[in-house]
Amino acid sequence: MKGKLLIFAAPSGSGKSTLVQYLMDKGLNLHFSISTTTRQPRGTEQNGVEYYFITPKEFRQHIANDDFVEYEEVYADRFYGTLKSEVERQREEGQNIIFDVDVNGGKNIKKHYGEEAKSIFIMPPSIEELRNRLVKRATDAPEVIEQRIARAEYEISQAKYFDHIVINDDLETAKQEVLQIVADFLR
Ligand code: ADP
Ligand code: 5GP
Repeated sequence: MKGKLLIFAAPSGSGKSTLVQYLMDKGLNLHFSISTTTRQPRGTEQNGVEYYFITPKEFRQHIANDDFVEYEEVYADRFYGTLKSEVERQREEGQNIIFDVDVNGGKNIKKHYGEEAKSIFIMPPSIEELRNRLVKRATDAPEVIEQRIARAEYEISQAKYFDHIVINDDLETAKQEVLQIVADFLR
């Protein structure tokens, strides 16, 4: 059977990675979608695993050919996008695909696939709590945290376009809620 599509979006620090990781271990045949990007590989990243790493020229050619479900130029010449052919390849293998993209990307993927996709927005209990989590996580400099908070307000305003909004206040409750939504959809 062809795989189904699950879209997760959230302001950074809401707990999306924590919740998605929880789902990955539930034997639901979930696999991450592999995006294409023009940025350089970081650390141990490998072509075809975390991303397909291509040149801006190649990326523009894919845009011209209408090969992307969605793409974004985050910075000048720094593109990220989801290739239709990759989604199809993974689905044909029967994989259920998890998209971990930004809010705009998530909305566009949902628009493209309609009922074949379920979109879930992970909502932080408040902006204050979001800031607390980012500070506690200790992976970002203070100015990066402030940038993420500034962007969060826009992202939260887009939550209404998602099929489900899960408030991640108590982590155990949020885990059960996402598991229920995903299990119902895949059944
Ligand atoms: P995201 O992927 O959305 O950026 P993370 O999953 O990295 O967010 O979570 C951000 C931080 O908040 C992590 O340190 C995580 O352990 C913590 N966290 C996640 N969910 C909760 C929760 N419900 N209550 C308290 N802390 C949480
Ligand atoms: P990073 O460079 O840290 O891997 O990713 C930077 C940002 O790009 C993240 O917010 C990530 O969610 C987003 N991103 C990764 N792949 C895609 C994609 O295919 N489409 C869109 N719209 N965003 C993506």
